[in-house]
Amino acid sequence: MSINVLVWGENVHERENEIVREIYPEGMHTAIARQIAADGDLKVSTAVLQEPEHGLSEERLAGTDVLVWWGHKAHRQVDDAIVERVAKRVWEGMGLIVLHSGHFSKIFKRLMGTPCALKWREAGERERLWVVNPGHPIARGLPAFFELEYEEMYGEPFSVPEPMETVFISWFQGGEVFRSGLTYRRGAGNIFYFRPGHETYPTYHDATIGQVLRNAVRWAHNPAPAYMAVHEAPNVPVEKAPEKIVERGPKLHAPGEQGYR
Ligand code: ZN
Repeated sequence: MSINVLVWGENVHERENEIVREIYPEGMHTAIARQIAADGDLKVSTAVLQEPEHGLSEERLAGTDVLVWWGHKAHRQVDDAIVERVAKRVWEGMGLIVLHSGHFSKIFKRLMGTPCALKWREAGERERLWVVNPGHPIARGLPAFFELEYEEMYGEPFSVPEPMETVFISWFQGGEVFRSGLTYRRGAGNIFYFRPGHETYPTYHDATIGQVLRNAVRWAHNPAPAYMAVHEAPNVPVEKAPEKIVERGPKLHAPGEQGYR
């Protein structure tokens, strides 16, 4: 069974900054998509901020199993209604992989419910990613640690909720550490935050990063049918209770009345 992957890119830095354009002449989203598509059963397409509805129509999202998100400068340009639409699909079971500066994207903050803030430094430091959960599907085929020669530093504390699992911890040349691979579940949706990917370095051309992205897509994919009932809050009348009961005590709602939400 193939997995439908949609790589979403903000597509701003690569058009405005010459350094980024040189590294990613076809856009960062294209490089990320190519890495994922190296496994033939992963059906990958791309969407960018500048498209109508940011390329994230109801129909497009309904056909997406895993959405990959790279954004930075234009987080605030993402329409709130579309953020809500993406969150809804995650709760129904769509996987979401949030990359690098996506920690401050509206969608990640919406799903985490915390500031998602961190320390940072742009000094071309070596990043060493330690695989701290070697049995995890996202770590499949990886060595005990791997390095990126040039990366931006992200340092703790990272103000996210305690994750379901920690897959990677990064160490940077300047001495800071960071939880760089974190899993979450929201509703029926699996979420993976993966730290590397600063736009002025060739991170998304790195073979090991490609392996992590493909592993993450497979992990995030929920093969179950979309869990549409996740949005419902039905009233169960007394006569429909699994065990026979007699109604008693005062009540707020009239029979058959809609609940507040
Ligand atoms: Zn960055």
